Amino acid sequence: MPDAALLWAPQAWTPGGWREHVVLRAGDDGRWREVTPGVATPPPGALVLSGPLLPGLANAHSHAFQRAFAGRAERREGKSDDFWSWRDRMYRVALRISPAQLRDVAAQLYVELLKGGYTEVCEFHYLQHGLDGRPYDDPLEMSWALADAAAETGIGLTILPVLYERAGFAKPLRDDQRRFRTSAEQVWQAAASIADARRPRLGAGLAIHSLRAASAESISALVRKAEGFAGPIHIHVAEQTAEVDDCLAATGARPIGWLARERLLDPRWQLVHATHTVPEEIDAVRQSGAGVVLCPSTEANLGDGLADVPGWLAAGVPLTIGSDSHVGREWREELRWLEYGQRLVRRQRNVAAAPEVGQAASAEHLFGRVLAGSAAASGASSWGLVPGAWADALVVDMHEDALLGVPSSHALDALVFSSPSRSWRDVMVAGRWAVRDGVHPRAAAIADRFAATMHALG
Ligand SMILES: [Zn+2]
Repeated sequence: MPDAALLWAPQAWTPGGWREHVVLRAGDDGRWREVTPGVATPPPGALVLSGPLLPGLANAHSHAFQRAFAGRAERREGKSDDFWSWRDRMYRVALRISPAQLRDVAAQLYVELLKGGYTEVCEFHYLQHGLDGRPYDDPLEMSWALADAAAETGIGLTILPVLYERAGFAKPLRDDQRRFRTSAEQVWQAAASIADARRPRLGAGLAIHSLRAASAESISALVRKAEGFAGPIHIHVAEQTAEVDDCLAATGARPIGWLARERLLDPRWQLVHATHTVPEEIDAVRQSGAGVVLCPSTEANLGDGLADVPGWLAAGVPLTIGSDSHVGREWREELRWLEYGQRLVRRQRNVAAAPEVGQAASAEHLFGRVLAGSAAASGASSWGLVPGAWADALVVDMHEDALLGVPSSHALDALVFSSPSRSWRDVMVAGRWAVRDGVHPRAAAIADRFAATMHALG
């Protein structure tokens, strides 16, 4: 049963932008039944919201265990530091964490993501096996740790078991990658078992770690199994220039170019990072219907480079955002950095705006695009404040500092480009309040467990 089946919002963000005086009705299945703008008087029995209502966003790329590492890799010990030295340090956590510890870290992360305005998270899940590299008695032990954390906190979850079989194009798996080793068959079985569990608000998709970590044969074997599979297929691609160079050397094609050349891409595919591209690759992705998942705070933290945001926007490619390594855990920061990265290199303002198509506001254009991309990235058929989509929503507090004196028509601009701002006043997931008046009811107990786990991980 929804906590509040009937809502009335002074403004709400429906496809196309803000609408006034909106009635929303959630069904027992946790999905919107009705969204009707222009109802000046709240209907009897409706919960009258104190501020504008935004839909929640999907966080399309997460490695939950890396939350244990945020803020712990910001010191340079040698002459230089880059993605690869960061990764070696990240593996030290990956090699130690137990299923119970993963659950505690993920629960803390998921509370933070809810407070950051995400109502769904897609777990790119490669940390699957025991400490010695052998599968657990239940091979999905680490997946259930994530699912339990999501259930405790109330966030929606899509688990993407990852195909991972080698260290590089011609390099066998390293010993410190032993917990990640999977075959196409294992990945397919894992996704099927997660879907068959039929837990509330738990979905399953597929993932391929990267072209360097999975062979062409295994990728095509997984894709053959997935014929007719409706869930999303995620892959890390073109994050690092070294990866592009290695792919060119091994295959004669750039990573996205190779995926297009092999005719693998379709609207289920989600290209994570897609940082280093040429215009022909953007055009190939556009033609395929595949989406792109940008992770600006992590890409900045790791020194990956800047994606061609204007190129992806202009091509109309579905876009989403992910918090990836979790150095940032709210979508406002991700949208801000999508725009600021471009401003800094181009020495221009409002790069993401597109007044020629009626999108003069950078924040609104980015938000609308990421909202539209959230469905495909998480395997949902629709997303947002529309009938049939999950009844997920964020109540904006117009009394918070960043919004004082700002007309509600400009609330999104201020939420993204004026900081600091508080967390959302209320967060609804599938018709239930996960956060109410800024409070998550499990937050204190979860924080205690997280602190103890962090201490144990050292
Ligand atoms: Zn990642």
